[in-house]
Amino acid sequence: MQLLKTNSFLTPLLLSLAASIFLVKAASVMASESIGGTSNGCLLNAASLPLTGNAHQVMNASRQRFYGHEQMIGLIKTAADFIEHNKLGVMLVGDIAAKNGGPMLDNHKSHQNGLDADIFLMMPDQAFVSDEDPTPEATTVIDFEKNRIDSRYWSDRQSKLLKFFASDPVVDRIFVNAAIKKTLCEAHGDKKWLAKIRPWREHTEHFHVRLKCPSDSPDCVSQAALPEKDGCDDEMLSYWLAENINPTISEQVAEPELVKPLRCQAQ
Ligand SMILES: [Zn+2]
Repeated sequence: MQLLKTNSFLTPLLLSLAASIFLVKAASVMASESIGGTSNGCLLNAASLPLTGNAHQVMNASRQRFYGHEQMIGLIKTAADFIEHNKLGVMLVGDIAAKNGGPMLDNHKSHQNGLDADIFLMMPDQAFVSDEDPTPEATTVIDFEKNRIDSRYWSDRQSKLLKFFASDPVVDRIFVNAAIKKTLCEAHGDKKWLAKIRPWREHTEHFHVRLKCPSDSPDCVSQAALPEKDGCDDEMLSYWLAENINPTISEQVAEPELVKPLRCQAQ
C-alpha cells in the first residue's frame, strides 16, 4: 500500500520529468542545420521569416523562399529592429531559401543551404499593401553611363543597412554591384567593415548577404576566407567596374554537374 502511495505520488513527477526530457530533445532535434555549400547543399529544420514585421516585408512570397537557417532569420529580424529604431523605412526581403534548401528552378545557383538572403536596395517609407503578394518592380540603383550609383535611388538608408549587416560577426560576405562598393569606399573614412562588401556582377537592385557556417552545422562547407583588406583599391574592384561597362568580360562558363552532399540526397 505504502509502495502504491509512493508510486502515485511519484507518477506526476516522473511524467513531468519525461515530458521535459522529451521537450528538450524535441528542441534540439528542431535546430536548423545547413548542409553542404551555398551552391550545392540543403537545409534541415528551416526557420521561416514572417511575411511582414515591424520594418520588413517579404517579396515574391508565393515563391515560398522565406526559409533559412535560424541564424539567418534571426539576423534579418534584428536588422528590421535596427531599421525601425533608426527610422530607415522598410526592408524588402527577396529570396532566402526553399523550405529544404537545395537548388531553385531559376537563375539562382546559390541560396541552397539557408545561409544566403537577397535584400532589395529599394527601402520605401512604408510597406506595400496588397491582398496577396505585393512585389514591386525592383529598381536598379546604378547609373551605368557614369558607372556609379544613381543618387535618385540612393540615400544613407542603404549604406547604414549594408554597414549593419557587414558589422555582424555571423556575416561572411555581402555581394553588391561594383559601383556600389566604389561609392561606399569614397563615402566612408572608416573602411574596415568594407572588407566584407564584395563587388560582383549584377546586384544592381538587391544585395546578397551570406553567413558563415554556423557552429551547429558540422557538414556545412565554408568558402575560402576573405582577405582582411577593405578592397577599395584592388584589382577585383577594377575588374567588376569594367564588367559593368562591358559585360562580355565575364561571360559565364558552364560548370560541371555537382554531386549532392550525401545527407541532401534523400530530399
Ligand atoms: Zn542572391
